[in-house]
This record gives sequence, structure tokens and C-alpha cells, in this order.
Amino acid sequence: MIPLSEPVLSGNEALYVQECLESGWISSAGKFVSRLEKEVASKVGLSHGVATSSGTSALHLALLVAGVVPGEEVLVSDLTFIAPLNSLRYVGATPVLVDCEPQSWQMNVELVRNFLVRDCETRQGKLFNKASGGRIAALMPVHVLGHPVDIEPLRALASHFELPLIEDASESLGAFYRERPVGSTATIACYSFNGNKIVTGGGGGMLATDDQALAEKARYLSTQAKDDPLYYIHHEIGYNYRLSNLQAAVVVGQLEQLEHFVQKKRQIADFYRKELNTWQGLLDFQVEQDWARSSNWLFTLLLAGRASTSLGSLLETLIENKIQVRPLWQPMHLSKPYSSCQFLHNGRDWSADLVGRAISLPSSANLSEDQLARVCAQIGEFLRCL
Ligand SMILES: *Cc1c(COP(=O)(O)O)cnc(C)c1O
Repeated sequence: MIPLSEPVLSGNEALYVQECLESGWISSAGKFVSRLEKEVASKVGLSHGVATSSGTSALHLALLVAGVVPGEEVLVSDLTFIAPLNSLRYVGATPVLVDCEPQSWQMNVELVRNFLVRDCETRQGKLFNKASGGRIAALMPVHVLGHPVDIEPLRALASHFELPLIEDASESLGAFYRERPVGSTATIACYSFNGNKIVTGGGGGMLATDDQALAEKARYLSTQAKDDPLYYIHHEIGYNYRLSNLQAAVVVGQLEQLEHFVQKKRQIADFYRKELNTWQGLLDFQVEQDWARSSNWLFTLLLAGRASTSLGSLLETLIENKIQVRPLWQPMHLSKPYSSCQFLHNGRDWSADLVGRAISLPSSANLSEDQLARVCAQIGEFLRCL
């Protein structure tokens, strides 16, 4: 089986884990946790990092410390893995779903602008959705598949309307927006170290911010909101969201290879594009924007023309031939828990269109050219028989 996205653990991971085991520091404090927090923050251009048990718990903490409360509304990408939407429900907020744009597949910033300017009103310094009456509390763009969102205009809108910008960069660590690392523009940026992400600890996550008070609050909430170093005194409901030193050790080992992984993934994407380019008219690709340097976390192609309706049979054929592939995520406005949410689009439902035609191909950093060629040959055979 050629795997979709398998961790490559050939660096110092085992050495660092061994060090944890020998020192006894395996739990929620230790030098690898601190080192991970410093190194990720510095890589993404933010001053403070707080390691968490998962990317989802990082998102949950980000919303809590940004002050999002029940009944408030947050603009979030419609085309995304479901985790950021679930984190919104954990704080009782209502997602406002924003369609993607068809080139980069990221949140369409024009839709956000139109909504904030035309469909919202300011009362006593706060912004309200005219249709629902709910207060708009934050913007939550998700950088999907390793490609950044067009973040500069979004940042400008967030500043103008005084909204926190919470960026879900779980899939895009190592990517750049212009010269800046993805996440560096955020009020709070969140990352994931889940098993299939670009660097992994088996599980884990991180939030990063330039705001020391937000970082301290997040750390406090992640450790059951304990108010005294000795006595068990609590003034708030907290969470057990800390990352173990053992997992942090793995991620630190992985992080040393981040640039190498990104380089490999970009080579994999180049290979697929070049090799599959002969199928113009039947295949399309995500277009890397001028301002973007994608980490190509999961290379994803689109069926086009008369191949557009063949997604199911192509997925089946590849899986039968021991090539692990995946469709994209069901669009959030079509998934049951979020189907009643307001969905901003411009008359054409791009996320459903893309999801109906998209297939993610094997993208592990250790794939050989032979394996990549086998994937392309199998796709070619399928398209030839259409
Ligand atoms: C993976 C992922 C997360 C968080 O994942 P965890 O498994 O909780 O670490 C959040 N958002 C997106 C877009 C993701 O792909």
C-alpha cells in the first residue's frame, strides 16, 4: 500500500524520547515542552507558544482567551476539516460559513468584506449581524492543504472592525504568505501535530501569539485553571489540555526536519503536476498564488470535463490498487451539525463543486519516484478508459 500521509521518524525523535524515559520527565512539563513552545513560536514569527494536547484543544483555548462567548458569531472557512467548527460549538458560538474561492481553495476574502461592510452594523463599538442580531466576535480562516489564505486583506478587515484574527494553520506549518510564515499575522495561530500533519508527535497541538496576556491565560486554562502553586484553589473552569513531554520530544525531533519535509512535499507536488499535465481538460490543480509558498501538505487534484463525475470510481480504483487516496471533507454547510448555519457565497457553491471532484494523493515525505510514477500511471489508465 502506498500510504496517503505517513510520518517519517528518521531524525532525533527516538533519541529525544529515550532521554525523556531515562530522566523520568514524561508528563506535562519538561524541557521538550518548553523547547517546542519556543521553537514553533520562533519558526512562525510569534513571541509566545503554548503546547496543547491537540490542534482542536488549541483552537478551543484560542476562542476562550479571545473572549468569544455563547451566542456570538465567528466567520470561518466552509471548506475545511471539521475541527475548527467543533471548537466554535464548544464555546457556544455560531459559525458563519464562508465559501472558498476556486483558485487557491481558501476562504474568499471578498465575501468576508461584503458581509462585514454590508450585512453587519456597528452599535456601541460592537459589530452585529443584521440578519441574526448576533455579535460578530472573531474571524477564523483555515489555511487548507498547505496553501495560505490571502491573509493581508483579512488582517486589514480584522483591524478595521477590531476583531481578533484566529488562524487555523494546522495543515500549513512551513508555508509562507509573501515573506512571512503562515500564522505570523494572527492574533492567535493554531497548529496541529496529529499523526498525518507535516510534523507530528502522534498527537498534539500548539497555539502561538504575540500577546503575552493571551498566552498566559491559555496556559492557565490548559492546566485546570489552578490558581495557587501549592493549594488546589480554582476560580474558573479549566481544562486538561497540556501536551506531554514525551510527545513534545517527538515533535521537537520532527521540527528539525520541517524544511526538509516541505522541500520534499513541494517536489512531490511538482512531480504530480508535471506527470499529470498530459491530462489537461480532464484534470485540474490547485493554483499556487503569487503571494503564496505552499507546504503542499496533501497534494490534491480535481477531476474536470467529462471526468468530473467519476470521483467515486477513481477513488475505488486507486484503493483497489493499493494506493491510499481520500476525498476532501464534506463542505461544512452540507454537514449535519452545521447545515443550518449562514453560508456566505456568491451564487455559486464552490466548496461543494470542488469537493465533488477532488482527490488527495499520497504525499508522504518519504515517497520514492517509483511510487509516485505508479500513482500517476494508475490515474492515467483510469482516464484513458473513460
Ligand atoms: C488536523 C486539523 C485540526 C486539528 O487536529 P487535531 O487532530 O485536533 O490535532 C484542526 N484544523 C484543521 C484544518 C486540521 O486539518
